[in-house]
Amino acid sequence: MSEIRHRSRPFSSAQRLPDTDITPNAHQPEQAGAMLADYMHSHPRLLILTGAGVSTDSGIPDYRDGDGAWKRKQPVQHQAFMDSVQIRQRYWGRSLIGWPLMRNASPNASHHHISQLEMLNHSSLVVTQNVDRLHQKAGTQAVTDLHGRADEVLCMSCDYRCMRDEVHQRCAILNPQFCAFTADVAPDGDADLDIDFADFRLEDCPLCGGILKPDVVFFGDYVPKKRVNAALDALKASDGLLVIGSSLMVYSGFRFCRYAHEWGKPIATLNLGRTRAESLAMLRLNASIADTLQVCVSQL
Ligand SMILES: [Zn+2]
Repeated sequence: MSEIRHRSRPFSSAQRLPDTDITPNAHQPEQAGAMLADYMHSHPRLLILTGAGVSTDSGIPDYRDGDGAWKRKQPVQHQAFMDSVQIRQRYWGRSLIGWPLMRNASPNASHHHISQLEMLNHSSLVVTQNVDRLHQKAGTQAVTDLHGRADEVLCMSCDYRCMRDEVHQRCAILNPQFCAFTADVAPDGDADLDIDFADFRLEDCPLCGGILKPDVVFFGDYVPKKRVNAALDALKASDGLLVIGSSLMVYSGFRFCRYAHEWGKPIATLNLGRTRAESLAMLRLNASIADTLQVCVSQL
């Protein structure tokens, strides 16, 4: 495995899913759930890869629409965050609004159904592209946070690590004038707030003065190799792959489909809209995620 990169290019704002990949017909949940249950009867132990579509019912928005295009401004890029004080001021300033909404989000029916799949021994590992920890809150035991976790903060220069709430509280005390705004929350604890953050006072590492960053793999950064390899090992030991709620536009997620295909593992997708794996998947379900999973679990 040479390149392990969570990259936004070449899937930039202008990018759409290839026109050759036809959107699967929309399914009714009864039909989709029965088809998914059949898939699990044939391939009982699955690696489950989840994306933003699983968390939208918890009030955490998706980055992309059904065609894989950005619905909103692109999220912060890793190098820009590291290089620019202004970008960090804007990130942590908007985070004062965005983080509490993510912190207080509750798992929805999809998270609970996926947890049931684990209890029924149908999940070898849940690999999630989401950083909201809602699978864990729903009780799922074996979860890999592929892109990290938004609830912890680390120093980019030393080993310091703390809960995000601590940094949030300290930022709020330093910047009371920025706490009163309201805005829509973004998928990574960011928020849609376009104001001047020039006066925002940044919180630095209390040990070394280094840059503090949520323990999230920002776009343009690498997913740690060990994390990816451990997840791929779990895929290798599974009977197949099930992708739920992801258009697979980000390569770090799509790579699981490529390896599954290479290793002769069947792939099923359950997503509202198209995915980048239309030509690789043996079962493609374009249906309501929560309703489909409910029907599926009832038939296992
Ligand atoms: Zn430090």
